[in-house]
Amino acid sequence: MTRSALVCGAGGFIGGHLVRRLKGEGFWVRGVDLKFHEYSETEADDFMIGDLRDQWFCRSVVDRAFDEVYQLAADMGGAGYIFTGEHDADVMHNSATINLNVLDACYKRRIGRIFYSSSACMYPAYNQEDPSNPLCSEESAYPAAPDSEYGWEKLFSERLYLAYRRNYGMKTFIARYHNIFGPFGTWTGGREKAPAAICRKVAEAKSGSEIEVWGDGNQTRSFLYVEECLDGTTRLTRSGFSGPVNVGSEEMVTINQLVDIVSDIAGKQIFKKHVAGPQGVRGRNSDNRLIQEKLQWAPNMPLRKGLEMTYAWVESQVRGNSRA
Ligand code: NAD
Repeated sequence: MTRSALVCGAGGFIGGHLVRRLKGEGFWVRGVDLKFHEYSETEADDFMIGDLRDQWFCRSVVDRAFDEVYQLAADMGGAGYIFTGEHDADVMHNSATINLNVLDACYKRRIGRIFYSSSACMYPAYNQEDPSNPLCSEESAYPAAPDSEYGWEKLFSERLYLAYRRNYGMKTFIARYHNIFGPFGTWTGGREKAPAAICRKVAEAKSGSEIEVWGDGNQTRSFLYVEECLDGTTRLTRSGFSGPVNVGSEEMVTINQLVDIVSDIAGKQIFKKHVAGPQGVRGRNSDNRLIQEKLQWAPNMPLRKGLEMTYAWVESQVRGNSRA
């Protein structure tokens, strides 16, 4: 029998890739989002446009027994959106309401497996002050002290999914994503994240010129290529382990190094102008011991390889824009 899946947030970056992956695996897929995907045609068999903050709409979306539900919809953005404080009320209200509605609709339809995308932003800020030695092991989550309301909402929703598992026996699965990047993601407009923003700035710059980098650029992060994120996501959802578990890369770089790698890929000499801007914590890296132990798997693609594919795509978008 054909397996079926629901992807909430299918018009977004990771959701768009996930629809393609599930179709490739032979699933019948329903996507749902506020909007269609901006950069590619959806491959979903059925795509519902609507607002998951509306519980009646949620119930109409979950009107059949899906084998797998992936809940990726969120009020989301890069540092320029979630760390300025200007969108805190929206981020908390919108994303929490989506999670409350989707999970309850899945409970009422007795849905088997439900995946929830949490974020490394839920880890306590006090463990991420040393850029060369951040602590992000799963059990370090408490005492909780995320540095953003986005992180607090993720923590609340993690607990919501765990409570439905505990009280109602639902099979919920929680991953803590660490900076996912790749082609077909937001690259301009204020919600883009560091890899896409840097690819865009480098693509727009002439060799020998400078680009703006937020902060001193010595803040560290790791970045996971989207296909590996999907590997971790589907493996977890089909496993006997509920998480929460990190899904991220352990290849930590400074933002300055990220700029250097992208400049090298572009074959341009680029100088950095450090300017004030939202940065988040000083250091963050994935800790893959638990995922390795529980799923006998961890991502291993070199950052540079993923950046080569991402730069090629962002550069084509920049060229397309300048022609328009
Ligand atoms: P995205 O913004 O590209 O996708 C989220 C999608 O949710 C968007 O298409 C948006 O339109 C949709 N959405 C928002 N509100 C909605 C509503 N009320 N009803 C229906 N749809 C709605 O983000 P993404 O990068 O693909 O992230 C997917 C998930 O992974 C999010 O939950 C995000 O918090 C989480 N995550 C992502 C990263 C990352 O680096 N991209 C890191 C950690 C966690």
